[in-house]
Amino acid sequence: MNTLLSETDLSNELKAVFDAQRQYAPQMALTTVDQRIERIRRIQTWVKDHEADIQRVMYEDFRKPAAEVLIGELLALQAEIKHTIRHLAHWMKPQRLPTPLSLVGTKSSLHHEPKGSVLIMAPWNYPFVLSIRPLISAIAAGNVVMLKPSELTPHTAGLIRQMITDLFPVKEVAVFEGNETIAQALLELPFNHIFFTGSPAVGRIVMTAAAKHLASVTLELGGKSPAIVDESATIKQAAGQLAWGKCLNNGQTCIAPDYLLVHESIKEPFMQAFREALTSMYSPDGKPVEQSDSYARIVNSKHFQRLRGLLDDAVEKGATVTVGGKMNADQHFMEPTVLENVRDDMRIMQDEIFGPILPVLSYATLDQAIQIINQREKPLALYIHSHNRKNTQYILDRTSAGDTVINDTLLQFGNVELPFGGVNNSGLGKSNGFFSFQEFSNQRGVMQRDFGTMKFLYPPYTDRVKKL
Ligand code: NAD
Repeated sequence: MNTLLSETDLSNELKAVFDAQRQYAPQMALTTVDQRIERIRRIQTWVKDHEADIQRVMYEDFRKPAAEVLIGELLALQAEIKHTIRHLAHWMKPQRLPTPLSLVGTKSSLHHEPKGSVLIMAPWNYPFVLSIRPLISAIAAGNVVMLKPSELTPHTAGLIRQMITDLFPVKEVAVFEGNETIAQALLELPFNHIFFTGSPAVGRIVMTAAAKHLASVTLELGGKSPAIVDESATIKQAAGQLAWGKCLNNGQTCIAPDYLLVHESIKEPFMQAFREALTSMYSPDGKPVEQSDSYARIVNSKHFQRLRGLLDDAVEKGATVTVGGKMNADQHFMEPTVLENVRDDMRIMQDEIFGPILPVLSYATLDQAIQIINQREKPLALYIHSHNRKNTQYILDRTSAGDTVINDTLLQFGNVELPFGGVNNSGLGKSNGFFSFQEFSNQRGVMQRDFGTMKFLYPPYTDRVKKL
């Protein structure tokens, strides 16, 4: 039943699956720790057995290098699976909570119960892991799931559908491939929870749709994630980390550094180190970047043209390309490209870039750098490259971000113990390990009286009550 849908019978078919799942949800809620772990292990084994297929489909979708599928998708997914299997029994166990003396005779606990019917909508940039990681947590929490992968990576979406069809009955997990028409039809349904990963613009559409049913939402969104490099940073190391963070997946990473703020005193040596880092990663043998096996492509021509538009707008308004700039429209190829002399009125400093273009700005005081960050929406990630603790604390105290990494990039996604997600425009709610389990669970407070009663609270009210 996990099939491609024609548009005509779309809503009826979605509703039929939704109803079947909703009917089954109470049984799913009763599954034990072992039964949920058994389901998660099915995914774990399937993924292990199909690693080469997963790498192949992403190469077909946008020439994503196999190593980047391993680093950015498979390792992160396996880590999440192992962590969930290891800790699920503990997470599912009710937690005893303190009780005030005034409520003597009662005890309180926190129970995690499944939200019920959930929708997961995924983006194209890490199309496998961002579909399957939330699925693991949704199953761990005991939900039934409808999952929509992105239409922009159709080979990966097809493989996800095949995997789910092999592993689960539709009443537990169902996959729907397709574009926004399907997405919007899904959003009409009265889900208990929607877990969406994608752009802030579509995040608003999702939240508006959820409001109709007062469904809860997790929104894993994007935006402009800055990186500050202060005068105490280890220049070579910071340059390498930022070059990798920017170019992994061809810059199409939600937590990629979007623009850099480099202290003016180290700008020149930093830029030199940045160029060297790019050369050592993508042209170690002197060949052009276009021939590198380690460099993915922009996902489609629409996004390629969008990026070219951002670059042209900036150059027309006076920005200078100081690194890269070569492109090949037929191949959706764009070299790692550094822009200097950028200004706020350029679109490149307003829109999330989501590609291999990096504006580099310099600053004289930390307050200037902080002001540039705080003029914008709160970012998903803020990177600080500094060995000056005072500076680091100064920045942390005066900015807000979903996550912050000090002296590295991107690795926050890899620690399942760390909450991952944005704040306001960059997202609502957190994922990773227990945080994802929590998103898919209702935290139910349970109070139980073991002895006594509080009769003195009942009317007619005596002086005893009035003096409380
Ligand atoms: P997107 O918002 O365009 O699409 C995401 C999903 O929404 C897809 O499944 C798509 O089919 C659906 N969709 C698109 N338009 C829709 C509409 N009008 N109505 C309903 N559904 C619609 O995002 P994308 O281009 O796939 O991904 C890029 C964005 O995602 C970037 O902003 C990036 O920062 C963000 N992102 C965030 C994270 C995170 O974990 N925070 C991870 C990856 C990507």
